[in-house]
Amino acid sequence: MVDEGNDKDEGTPLPLACPLPKGMDLPTEEQYLYCIRCGLCLAVCPTYKLSLIETDSPRGRVALVRKMAEGELPLRKSFEAQMYKCLACLACDAICPVGIKPAHLALQARAVAFENLPQPWIKRPLFRGLFPYPGRMEWATLPLRLYARLGLRRVVEGLGLERLLPAQLRDMERMLPNLPARPLRQTLPEVTPAKGERKQRVGFFLGCVQSLMFAEASQATVRVLAENGCEVVTPRDKAPGKAIYPAPKQCRPSPPPARRASPPG
Ligand code: SF4
Ligand code: SF4
Repeated sequence: MVDEGNDKDEGTPLPLACPLPKGMDLPTEEQYLYCIRCGLCLAVCPTYKLSLIETDSPRGRVALVRKMAEGELPLRKSFEAQMYKCLACLACDAICPVGIKPAHLALQARAVAFENLPQPWIKRPLFRGLFPYPGRMEWATLPLRLYARLGLRRVVEGLGLERLLPAQLRDMERMLPNLPARPLRQTLPEVTPAKGERKQRVGFFLGCVQSLMFAEASQATVRVLAENGCEVVTPRDKAPGKAIYPAPKQCRPSPPPARRASPPG
């Protein structure tokens, strides 16, 4: 099993077959040159604020992706881990004066790493066979919803039984939010009319977990939008998870270079 983000388990770096992967929306050379090192993206980046390390910053990630795309930086687990540090808050995308989109790049670089680097065995089935399908997600989380809604959770906490769980499961149990009796996708209308005069029409995507794990917050968001004159459209069958992995699948590791024929003699 591969320990994601473990720099010691980097394995052989994989050179990419396509220096500029198809499907990756990379900044133009001009934009790279126009990066005026203004630091605006640093000021809004939570991961940079935490560490004050350049590679944890949006422009640092842009530089890493650029080097990877140009074939100068091998694709390794440490590169992938760096891309996963990005919280995808999109603050940097919005603020860059020359239109570089560091968050967008980091997400795409994750997809390249996902396709090309070894992953924990469970990750691909989850990301390909479960998260993109809202109906399957709802079935898969049914035991969790029953656990929370039938009062089992209170019993477990009351008796201190969670101490018997392995540390990782115990942490997950503690982080489990209040789950709705029914997934929000099944209860929220596809179109929520604006209160009063309609000023805007907005789309609200429930993603892969919003409907289940953050149902209250999602419902409140729709309510606030409607109160402020927005008609809110919530597509039911929009495949989620795509925002996490835009998946430019075309980018595969290059085959090992052909051996040169030994010079005669
Ligand atoms: S999207 Fe990522 S890189 Fe951009 S500000 Fe947020 S955490 Fe930083
Ligand atoms: S905001 Fe844009 S131009 Fe400014 S340093 Fe960041 S990437 Fe460069």
